[in-house]
Amino acid sequence: MRSRYDIVVVGGGPAGSSAARSAAMRGKSVLILEKDRDIGIPVRCAEAVGEIGLKRFLDPKPEWISNKVNFARLIAPDGTAVEVSHHVGGYILNRKVFDFDLAQMAAQHGANIMTKTHVYDLKRDADGKINGVKYLYLGKPCEVESRIVIAADGVESRLSRLAGIDTVLRLQDIETCVQMTVANVRLDRQYCDFYFSSRLAPGGYVWVFPKNDHLANIGLGISGEHNAPRAAIDYLKEFIQSHYPDASILTTVAGGVPCAPYMDRMVTDHFMVVGDAAHQANPMTGGGIVLAIWAGQICGEVAADAIDGNDTSQKRLRQYEKLWYDAGGKVHIRSYRLKEAVYRLTDDELNRTAHKINKLAPENRTLVSIFKTALLHNPKLISDIIKVFLS
Ligand SMILES: Cc1cc2nc3c(=O)[nH]c(=O)nc-3n(C[C@H](O)[C@H](O)[C@H](O)COP(=O)(O)OP(=O)(O)OC[C@H]3O[C@@H](n4cnc5c(N)ncnc54)[C@H](O)[C@@H]3O)c2cc1C
Repeated sequence: MRSRYDIVVVGGGPAGSSAARSAAMRGKSVLILEKDRDIGIPVRCAEAVGEIGLKRFLDPKPEWISNKVNFARLIAPDGTAVEVSHHVGGYILNRKVFDFDLAQMAAQHGANIMTKTHVYDLKRDADGKINGVKYLYLGKPCEVESRIVIAADGVESRLSRLAGIDTVLRLQDIETCVQMTVANVRLDRQYCDFYFSSRLAPGGYVWVFPKNDHLANIGLGISGEHNAPRAAIDYLKEFIQSHYPDASILTTVAGGVPCAPYMDRMVTDHFMVVGDAAHQANPMTGGGIVLAIWAGQICGEVAADAIDGNDTSQKRLRQYEKLWYDAGGKVHIRSYRLKEAVYRLTDDELNRTAHKINKLAPENRTLVSIFKTALLHNPKLISDIIKVFLS
């Protein structure tokens, strides 16, 4: 542990570890500060990732993976199940091991890591320039200096606001998620199930992701607009009671997911924000693991290059915003527009759509064809979508 680093990364999640790793690989001195006792714990995630997405950045190790899934079922409010073949499939990770390993990979390239370290403020020099962070370690206030601070502190990010970047989420742009890992359930481990219904999860969906034949992550997200009068946990208890009455609950976790518009300001002088803290999760699905790794990689590369060029100004760091826009920005903007339209479908419209899709040959039930069918059979949705695309 030194008193000064090139880069201090706040948060040891996928975004932080990925940023730290890519900067450390370029020879920079990097410190990750994580408030929890262990990297990767608690797991506040349903742990699903697409195989193609993950393999783009990492070579998956068998110990990261609890289960491989090949199919998804989308279940309409009246119970009609639409089966989608993913063709390639995805994984249900073991994030305790996965996140721990991502941090280890950063450490192997030279990054230092401190856990039980709560960053509570930015450190500034006499001119007000950000030059490090202040943190509590075992209750003791401490400071560390750096040329760049990277905020990878998740959806509840406070650091960005302290740096003057607006990360406040509107109520409709945050999903309140709650999940139970349950045992003693009977599952087909090849399938991930998604339930859509205003009764089960208004403004969101319920997921059932099998970790094996009898263990699953079951959770739901509801839009912040629908938080009152019923809490997300009440919806989840009711769902588990009615669908899996013999389930034993092993863990319960809750957390927010940003399903928000594209954030086009992600840097200021000597400061960058990445991952959920930068609202980079997919607004349509809430999936953010692979996107956090991807954005972290870009963020770490730009930070390292900026230090090499002895220019860590906002102007220089904006290269990260540009590269991220080219990488994930356009898809993000489109996904947000679609979320706005799709979550406005009524239960009747969802049922009708499911019935129509089931008339397609099974091999044609890809996510794209499902979406097209949803559009074709919901004129109201078409006009909504045209409006959002034109606006
Ligand atoms: C219930 C739920 C289910 C989800 N399911 C999925 C899924 O199936 N698939 C998927 O792709 N995504 C899923 N997500 C989203 C996914 O978990 C996130 O997008 C992803 O973890 C983002 O990574 P990150 O590194 O940006 O943030 P995080 O993983 O949240 O990491 C942030 C880290 O910063 C630390 N931290 C915060 N503040 C401080 C501080 N002041 N000082 C020091 N450390 C700090 C935190 O302890 C944490 O370790 C889910 C989210 C939730 C809540």
